Amino acid sequence: MSNATRRNFLTSAITTGIGLQVASAAPATKNLEMPMRTLGKTGLKVTVLGFGCMTTSDPAVIQAAVDSGINYFDTARGYQNGNNERMVGAALKDVRKKIVLVTKTPSHSAKDMMANLDTSLKELGTDYIDIWHLHSREKAADIPDECFDAQDEAVKQGKVRFKGVSFHGGHSFMIPWLIEKKRTDVILSSYNFTMAPEMDTLLAQASNAGLGVVAMKVMAGGFRQNKPGSSLYDRLKKDTALPTALKWAVRNKFVHTSIPGTTDLDQLDENFKAVSSGWKEDDAKILAAHLERIRPLYCSMCGGCEGQCSKGLPVHDIIRYVSYAEGYGEFALGRENWKQLNDDHQAVRCGDCSDCTVKCPNGVKVFERVSRAQELFA
Ligand code: SF4
Ligand code: SF4
Repeated sequence: MSNATRRNFLTSAITTGIGLQVASAAPATKNLEMPMRTLGKTGLKVTVLGFGCMTTSDPAVIQAAVDSGINYFDTARGYQNGNNERMVGAALKDVRKKIVLVTKTPSHSAKDMMANLDTSLKELGTDYIDIWHLHSREKAADIPDECFDAQDEAVKQGKVRFKGVSFHGGHSFMIPWLIEKKRTDVILSSYNFTMAPEMDTLLAQASNAGLGVVAMKVMAGGFRQNKPGSSLYDRLKKDTALPTALKWAVRNKFVHTSIPGTTDLDQLDENFKAVSSGWKEDDAKILAAHLERIRPLYCSMCGGCEGQCSKGLPVHDIIRYVSYAEGYGEFALGRENWKQLNDDHQAVRCGDCSDCTVKCPNGVKVFERVSRAQELFA
């Protein structure tokens, strides 16, 4: 991290939560404030802008987020081939008790989950996790009762404070189901401006039922409009679409915090300024134009094409993996996920189909996106 870059970031840092006063704040940004909300019945006070660590490799970026007052940090056992937790834990060790530390388990059996939890604790260098999610569950079959039981046991043992479930799709089933089950404290759900208004209703229901609500995928796949180095970016000195997408997500009071993936100080600065400035009516125009641009590329995981692929491919997952590579520029992450598909699915080639059986009502060019994934990762 260059000093110049770090200084740029700190110009927008403020004093909230555990943050430090930044006396050298530039006049244009020194009065920025980061709203805090209560994470449902957990009672935890969290900054509306949290920090998604999945793609972060530089601990200095995490430490800068802490300095700015951000207090919610999200990782998972599997991120970066199991190495992300170690880096995150080391970056946060001096402030452990002042921040909300979140991780996730991919395991589906109680025995594996408990072993997984001990590994997470060791890697993170802590003796408790604030929120422990069941990672990426989209239907009831993804959470046998023993998973809920194992979460209860982890709380009983003092290794976990609150129990969570994360999901990318299946919202209209998962949210009412989890409310009904009453075994979960926090949900981590994808949520962004491409989704149907039904999502707002579902998140309100979750929040009103006392669940903590955390939004991920708020940037709708990345797909930055003005990349640094492009003439538009150089002229505007910023991208407009992604910060506006973040503002849109957190304008919803039922979203208690958000976890945009943050890899460098410029992104951190951009996110911080976006959330601090709040949603303006004119922002809707920026998002409308951005939506038109990404419509063929971004799958909102609405579930509308479930089971339509004649070769049985999990189309929405595959399009998500290709978005990691092309939307966020995270090729390794896309391929890491692709390699977890079963061998039969990895062997399919869309070019062998005479006609694609998947019809997306939202305008995603499914054949092109799945073919692109095969081209990139297979
Ligand atoms: S491809 Fe289209 S229909 Fe299928 S899950 Fe994605 S947005 Fe929904
Ligand atoms: S073209 Fe690809 S996504 Fe479409 S039905 Fe065939 S294998 Fe499935």
